[in-house]
Amino acid sequence: MHSDLRVCASWSEHHDRPVYTLTTSCPECGGDAVNSAPAPYDPTDRYGEYRRALKRRAQE
Ligand SMILES: [Zn+2]
Repeated sequence: MHSDLRVCASWSEHHDRPVYTLTTSCPECGGDAVNSAPAPYDPTDRYGEYRRALKRRAQE
């Protein structure tokens, strides 16, 4: 299923965490909201970087 979930393009500058919205602008700062897929960063995935590092190592 296609999702139109968007995230504030500059959330890292304006917010403590990603601000998601279904519209094209951030509801909190009014800035551009961009398509969130693939998610550039998942704040709930604390082990994502560790897992990606393992994957990179496995490919080398
Ligand atoms: Zn914002």
